[in-house]
Amino acid sequence: MEAPDTGVDDMTKLSYLHEPAVLHNLATRYGIKEIYTYCGNILIAINPFQAISHLYDTELMDSYKGAQLGDRSPHVFAITDVAYRAMNNEGKSNSILVSGESGAGKTETTKMVMRYLAYLGGHAAAEARTVERKVLESNPVLEAFGNAKTVRNNNSSRFGKFVEIQFDACGQISGAAIRTYLLEKSRVCQISEPERNYHCFYLLCAAPPKSCQEIEKYKLGDPKSFHYLNQSSCYELVGVDDSHDYLATKKAMDIVGISVEEQDAIFRIVAAILHLGNIAFALEGEDSSVLEDDKAKFHLQVTAELLMCDLEALETALCKRNMVTPEEVIKRSLDPLGAAISRDGLAKTIYARLFDWLVKKINVSIGQDPDSKCLIGVLDIYGFESFKTSSFEQFCINFTNEKLQQHFNQKPGGIISLLDETCMFPKSTHETFAQKLYQTFKDHKRFVKPKLARTEFTIVHYAGEVQYQCDQFLDKNKDYIVPEHQELLSTSKCSFIASLFPSLNAETPKSGKFSSIGSRFKLQLQQLMDILNSTEPHYIRCIKPNSDLRPEIFENVSVLQQLRSGGVLEAIRVKCEGYPTNRIFSEFLERFSILVPEVLKENVEENVACKSIMEKVGLSNYQIGKTKIFLRAGQMAELDGRKAKLL
Ligand code: ADP
Ligand code: MG
Repeated sequence: MEAPDTGVDDMTKLSYLHEPAVLHNLATRYGIKEIYTYCGNILIAINPFQAISHLYDTELMDSYKGAQLGDRSPHVFAITDVAYRAMNNEGKSNSILVSGESGAGKTETTKMVMRYLAYLGGHAAAEARTVERKVLESNPVLEAFGNAKTVRNNNSSRFGKFVEIQFDACGQISGAAIRTYLLEKSRVCQISEPERNYHCFYLLCAAPPKSCQEIEKYKLGDPKSFHYLNQSSCYELVGVDDSHDYLATKKAMDIVGISVEEQDAIFRIVAAILHLGNIAFALEGEDSSVLEDDKAKFHLQVTAELLMCDLEALETALCKRNMVTPEEVIKRSLDPLGAAISRDGLAKTIYARLFDWLVKKINVSIGQDPDSKCLIGVLDIYGFESFKTSSFEQFCINFTNEKLQQHFNQKPGGIISLLDETCMFPKSTHETFAQKLYQTFKDHKRFVKPKLARTEFTIVHYAGEVQYQCDQFLDKNKDYIVPEHQELLSTSKCSFIASLFPSLNAETPKSGKFSSIGSRFKLQLQQLMDILNSTEPHYIRCIKPNSDLRPEIFENVSVLQQLRSGGVLEAIRVKCEGYPTNRIFSEFLERFSILVPEVLKENVEENVACKSIMEKVGLSNYQIGKTKIFLRAGQMAELDGRKAKLL
């Protein structure tokens, strides 16, 4: 009886290195809960969507410490151990790049990398352990404010993250820096079924009233009563207790060094944003707006209290705009739609500044080690995206992936420059932007103007074609705060809030002056690339086996697509161009001596016997090593074919 097929733990050991064999191997292993498989030195991790017992235990960490890659079964600890040892032995920085589509398991994998690094480079004395504890506890804090339930993932990170862990000469963690990229601001005001807004809003609504007087203080209660939350009917997550997580988040905030006073101000802002969203407007006269009803007035009052700003000034900042003429400043009324847009803009700006503050605070609190010579960088960033409507966000994400895959060419950068130029020209529209794109890139082989398109363009990315809709590119590229909003909040009586909005004269961009999200992102990305280029990279490709987020389901088509876009199949192809397959002499002889039975009878050395078989079959171009024979792609298949004919 044949032994059950358990697959091979390294894809380069496969006899046939083609797509069906690769898929079959991964599916087989996934079926027996082996979620990790190597493809040479790339680690493939398939999301199990269930806890696998003992997979991340301390005993297991012990067993990977110092082990050679391949000695033990594939694991994220093994890859991390290699990176850590390389850093210690060669004195060179390393990085671990975790990629994959939303819900593939990047963030969970990243957390395991960080846990294992804390285990390897942690301090023995309890009082010295604060650095690694802060590094680990930064995760729940950032997740509470930067993660949300989406269609693809119940705990989807809505920002990219690069964690740089610094080590001293003894290989102990001595500091860390966290960089974040492109937080999705629009989610604060706009969500759709069956998604949720950022976790922190629900946590605060569920705050246990016994432990503190949150409900009283923030006038919250039922999340269903808030416009920013009730655009979707999903309020609770299966298996998540928001009131428990509220306390857990506060505890994590304590550990990363956010004071009780700061926590109070932070949650006051979170509550204020919910109340702000409930300020509704009605038409007055021809094109002015007033608060819709008493309910709106109530929420205006609570918002002003929580933000500690003047109530009338808040109302004016929402409903009116200053028109600056050479002679005077005129207050112009906004219609109800304009006022609602103004309100949502304010909510997004406050939230984004709060998030940036959290990241900065965590970095200051963990502390940087200026003497550190070596670091390990861990990158958790969204994979390639292509949706029915792909906009500016997808463009930036795919641009990042092109860069990470080293497939980068100048084109996407050129598009951002063109976008900036268009944004600075007052009369521009998305149509004029599209026209400029068509003109500038008409001869570029990876740029396509779809037939009949007026405001769409297609880019042939390495991972496939994506069609982008231009209509919101201009707005989304503008990093703009309404001067009236800035003025209002910089004079808040709450020093925390005022500090998020430093006075305009002090900060560079003059009121109303254009500052570009795209260009800032391009710069951040270049800085990231500079760091990564100075490190030795290790790759982990996370794969989402099905779109139902359920265990034990492996959908071939989608997995194949991810292997392609993640560059895994390409890595395999490169291997195939060399000697993709190798076998120890004895194994080779056991399998193929039947082709030339006499080789076993003649009392020759194993390597000579292997050579004779290859000659008899008429294959050349292979290599004989010390203990193994190295075959070209297809040669193993040829040998198997001959054998099958004999049997
Ligand atoms: P991504 O960051 O790629 O969007 P996550 O890391 O948030 O994806 O993973 C999505 C979900 O999948 C997690 O919330 C968790 O339920 C599950 N998951 C991911 N990796 C693992 C794992 N190694 N073991 C068990 N469950 C996992
Ligand atoms: Mg994530």
